[in-house]
Amino acid sequence: MRIVVLAGGIGGARFLRGLKATAPEADITVIGNTGDDIHLFGLKVCPDLDTVMYTLGGGIDEEQGWGRSEETFQVKSELAAYGVGPEWFGLGDRDFATHIVRTQMLGAGYPLSAVTEALCARWQPGVRLLPMSDDRVETHVAVDIDGERRAVHFQEYWVRLRASVEAQAVVPVGAEQSTPAPGVLESIAEADVVLFPPSNPVVSVGTILAVPGIREAIAEAGVPVVGLSPIVGNAPVRGMADKVLAAVGVESTAAAVARHYGSGLLDGWLVDTADAEAAAEVEEAGIRCRAVPLMMTDLDATTAMANEALALAEEVRG
Ligand code: GDP
Ligand code: CA
Repeated sequence: MRIVVLAGGIGGARFLRGLKATAPEADITVIGNTGDDIHLFGLKVCPDLDTVMYTLGGGIDEEQGWGRSEETFQVKSELAAYGVGPEWFGLGDRDFATHIVRTQMLGAGYPLSAVTEALCARWQPGVRLLPMSDDRVETHVAVDIDGERRAVHFQEYWVRLRASVEAQAVVPVGAEQSTPAPGVLESIAEADVVLFPPSNPVVSVGTILAVPGIREAIAEAGVPVVGLSPIVGNAPVRGMADKVLAAVGVESTAAAVARHYGSGLLDGWLVDTADAEAAAEVEEAGIRCRAVPLMMTDLDATTAMANEALALAEEVRG
């Protein structure tokens, strides 16, 4: 079975662990969000691709959910001693090596897709990890600070401001001119199932869908498309997804997120058992819905979630 997954960082990566466990024979292609990418200290950092790569490759900081395990921060403190920041972005020494290799290869002319493949040769994530695009796409968030409208990089909004101010708009800068990376459209066309893990619907899955051609390819693939809600009990399980959902006019409920994707894209949607009463609203929108436990507390729970997603995909397969 060929499975395509559109993934952000933590939510996507953790779900993928469960998917690999429930479908060990499957051929899994992950289309990763690169809208969070940022240049820091002259280095190209791809937080979501790295979270997937480290999580599946066994190099992740398990507690934190991002960054390398057993990390140290000598380089960061040396940089700070020179007065060189930003201090709000936590790049550890081990992590720095990844960004140095990536930046060096990009400088030598390799596209991001080839660089990602090279990095994965070390980590062996057990999936084919593709960036959504080789082109630069950068998510910016419009905010009002001291009565003035400003656009800040997504990382500045998320990490420095901790989404403490209202997001007025979320713009994937460069998306309109971007093209899907090599292999992206092909993998969708050849897929048996497409899954949306419980990743952020706006700044993770939404950004991937903003690359011209990807949404269309999924809608036209004629295979089951099943998603899992990142919203449980009317709030994100982790993080501040409610802030960016509000910016696109979507309520933070499992049903509203399903309607936001829409029946033109989604065939099936899983909500948590806490949101069982939302299922009727989702089904009225033309999307098959089941309520199952959706908390990725451990590998067993996550594996069961992935199994439910595949079962729902079989159910909606016409
Ligand atoms: P990010 O790029 O690191 O922010 O990660 P993603 O976009 O892939 O996933 C973030 C989303 O995952 C958040 O909106 C969370 O609500 C969601 N999430 C995290 N853990 C869980 C979980 O255990 N269950 C569910 N249903 N969603 C989760
Ligand atoms: Ca992210």
